[in-house]
Amino acid sequence: MSKNKSSESVKVVVRCRPLNRKEESNGPAGGIVQMDLRLGQVILRNPRAPASEPQKTFTFDAVYDANSKQRDLYDESVRPLIDSVLAGFNGTIFAYGQTGTGKTYTMQGAWLDPEKRGVIPNAFDHIFTHISRSQSDRQYLVRASYLEIYLEEVRDLLDPNHGNARALELRESPESGVYVRDLTSCVCKSIKEIEEVMNVGNQARAVGATDMNEHSSRSHALFLITVECSQPGPDGRKHIRVGRLNLVDLAGSERQAKTGVQGERLKEAAKINLSLSALGNVISALADGRSSHVPYRDSKLTRLLQDSLGGNAKTVMVATLGPAPQHYDETLTTLRYANRAKNIQNQPRVNEDPKDALLREFQREIARLRAQLNHRKWRSKQKKEQVEGEGWERDGDEETEDEEEVEKEAEDYVKLEEQRLEREKEAIREDQFLLAEEKQRLLGENKRMMGDLRKEQEATEQLTAKYKAMESKLLVGGKNIMDHTNEQQKMLEMKRQEIAEQSRSEREMQQKMLVQDEETVELRETFTSLQQEVEAKTKKLKKYLKLYAKLQCIKAEIQDVNDEHVRSRQELEQTQNELTRELKFKYLIIENFIPPEEKNKIMNRLTFDPEEDQWKFQPLVPAESKSSQMKKRPTSAVGYKRPISQYARVAIAMGAHSRYRAENIMFLELDMTPPNTASLDRSTEVEPNQSHSLDNSPTKDRGVRKSRSWCQNPKSITSSSSNVSLAACHTATPMAAQ
Ligand code: ADP
Ligand code: MG
Repeated sequence: MSKNKSSESVKVVVRCRPLNRKEESNGPAGGIVQMDLRLGQVILRNPRAPASEPQKTFTFDAVYDANSKQRDLYDESVRPLIDSVLAGFNGTIFAYGQTGTGKTYTMQGAWLDPEKRGVIPNAFDHIFTHISRSQSDRQYLVRASYLEIYLEEVRDLLDPNHGNARALELRESPESGVYVRDLTSCVCKSIKEIEEVMNVGNQARAVGATDMNEHSSRSHALFLITVECSQPGPDGRKHIRVGRLNLVDLAGSERQAKTGVQGERLKEAAKINLSLSALGNVISALADGRSSHVPYRDSKLTRLLQDSLGGNAKTVMVATLGPAPQHYDETLTTLRYANRAKNIQNQPRVNEDPKDALLREFQREIARLRAQLNHRKWRSKQKKEQVEGEGWERDGDEETEDEEEVEKEAEDYVKLEEQRLEREKEAIREDQFLLAEEKQRLLGENKRMMGDLRKEQEATEQLTAKYKAMESKLLVGGKNIMDHTNEQQKMLEMKRQEIAEQSRSEREMQQKMLVQDEETVELRETFTSLQQEVEAKTKKLKKYLKLYAKLQCIKAEIQDVNDEHVRSRQELEQTQNELTRELKFKYLIIENFIPPEEKNKIMNRLTFDPEEDQWKFQPLVPAESKSSQMKKRPTSAVGYKRPISQYARVAIAMGAHSRYRAENIMFLELDMTPPNTASLDRSTEVEPNQSHSLDNSPTKDRGVRKSRSWCQNPKSITSSSSNVSLAACHTATPMAAQ
C-alpha cells in the first residue's frame, strides 16, 4: 500500500510476561526472550539451536518486559489512541498471542488492584476524566456494547437471553462501515456504569465457559465504546464528532491439535482457527501491499476489524509472548505476525457530523420534551393569572420572566386551584338553600375538576421525569463526574504523559540513529594516512561481517518460514482428508437412502447465501406480492375472460364457426316460440311417472332446447314449486296466443 500524507502505520508493541511458577520449576534454562527497552527490540533465542547460531532480533514501536507496569504500557502506547478517539477518530486495540501469555491480563488485568488494572479499565477512567475536564459547552454521549465471536457466530454478551439468543448478523453501511445488527448498546453516564456493563458481559462469557471447555480462550471478545461529542463550531452551529473504540481480546493463537478430531469437533476446530488464520491472511495481504484483494470477508472477525486494518481507524496491536523455551515456535510465529502488522497503513479520519449520530436524536428529543413542558407550565401560569387577576391590569412583561419563575408560578397555580376547589366543595356542602339533587350535581362537578387537575399534574410530572432522564444521559463537560479529579492529580497525569512522550521519542531517535550509523560508515572514507586506511578497512570489514550475519539471519528466517509453511500445509491437507472422508460418508447416505426425486427437489430449492455463509431453502410458496401478480389478468385479454387471438376475435364478430365462440356457448334465454303441439299423437303420450325416467335417460337430447320439452310436458315437472309456476306460465302463454 502506498504511503500518503494522511496515512499512518499500525502501531505494534510487544509484551512478555514473567516466567510462571511451573515454568520456573521446569529447569534453570530461563527465558528465551530478551528485550532492549531503549531500542524497542526483542531478541529471541532458539533453545534447540547451537549457541553459534545468531539470535533473531525484531524491532517494534515499543516493547514491555516482565517487569513492565500496566500503567506504563497504557500511558505510552494506549493513551494517544484514546485521545484520538475522544477527538472523533475510530480506534482499535487488539491483543494477540498464545493462550496464557497475558492477553486478558493486558486488556483487563486485575480490576481491584489499581497497579494491575489493564487497558480497558484505564480507558474508562481516561474517557470519563476527559469529559469531566472538558469545557462546559460540550455535550457527550457514551455508549458501550460487548460481543464475542465463538465458532464464527457473533453473540451479544449484554443480551439477557445470551445463552439462547440467535447469532447476530453483520451488515455494512457507507456511514458507519461494518456493524452488527441488533446489538445491545448501553448508554453509560459514569465509570461505575460502564464497569457494570463490562461485568454483565464477562459473566455471560463465564457461563459459556462452563458449558464448553476452554470457551473463553477460544472466543474473541470485543468491547465497543462509542463517544459522541457535540461542540459549537466557528459557524455557531453544533457539530458532532463520533469516535468508536474497539477493545479486542483475541482467542489464543496456538494451533489446535487436530489428530483424531472428527465430525462436529472437526468443524469446531476448523471454525476456531478460521478467524485467526483469516486475520493472518488479511495482515499478510495488507503488509505485502502488492495483493489487490484483501480477504476481509473470509471471517466475522476480519470483517469487524476491516476499518482497523487498512481502513480509517488508528490501531494498536499488543503482541503477547511467554518466555518459556517450550513455546519457542509459538513465540516466533507471534513475533513474525507482529512484525508483518507493522507495515499495514491506515488512513485515519475524523467522523464529523455523521448521519447516524445518536446524540443528535437525543438533543432533538430533549428539546421537544422541554418545549412540551414549558408549554404546560405557561398554560398553568396563565390560568393562575386569570384566577388571581380578574380585572387587574398586567404590564405585559411575560417574556422577561425566567423559567424558574414560570415553574414556580405553575406550581403555585396547582396549589391555589386545589385550595379553591376544596373551599368550593365545603361551601356546597354547607349551603342549606340548595336542593339535594343540585348539591349532588355540583359536588360531582367539583370532584371531576379535582380529578382533571390531578391528571394534569401527573402528566406534567411524568413529562418532567422523562425529560430529566433523557437529559441525564448526556454528559456535560466541566461537571465533576469523578470525585478524585483535583488539580494535583491532573498535574501528575500530565507529567506522566510528558515522560511517556519523551521516552517514546527517545526510542524513535535511537532506532533512527542505528539505521543511520550503518549507512554513514561509507561516507567517512577519506583517509590521510596508512593508519587511517587500516582503521577504515577494519571498520568496513566489520560492517561486512555484520552484513554477513544479517544474511545468515535472513537465510535462517527463510528456512523457518518454509518449515512453517510446510507444517501448515500438512495440517490443511489433514483437515482436507478428514473433510473428504466426512463428505464421502454423507454422500453414501444420500445416494443409498434418499430417493433421487426427493434429492432433486431439495437441490433445486437450495441457494447459497454468501452473506451468512450458509445454504438456504427457497420458500415453497412464492411470496405474497408474486402471487398477486400471477392472479392479475394478462393485458392481452382486455374485455375477455382469457387471451384470445386476433383471428378468433374476427371470427366471433363474423358469427362464424362455433369453435371460435369463446364465451356464451350456451343460450340461456327463455324460449318464447309457440310450441308445436298439434302434430302430437295422444296415444303415444307417456305416463307422467314414466316421463321422469325418460327425461333422465342419457341417450335423450338434452341440449339447449330443453326448455321446449318443459312446455310440452308440463306435468312431468313436480319437484319444485317455482318450476311448476314457470311451466304453468309457459303453458299459459301459448294458450292465450292460440
Ligand atoms: P491469555 O488471556 O493470553 O490466555 P492471561 O491474561 O489469562 O492469558 O494470563 C495468564 C496468566 O499469566 C494469568 O494468571 C496472569 O495473571 C498472568 N500474567 C500474564 N501477563 C502477566 C504480566 N505481564 N505480569 C504478571 N502476570 C501476568
Ligand atoms: Mg484470555
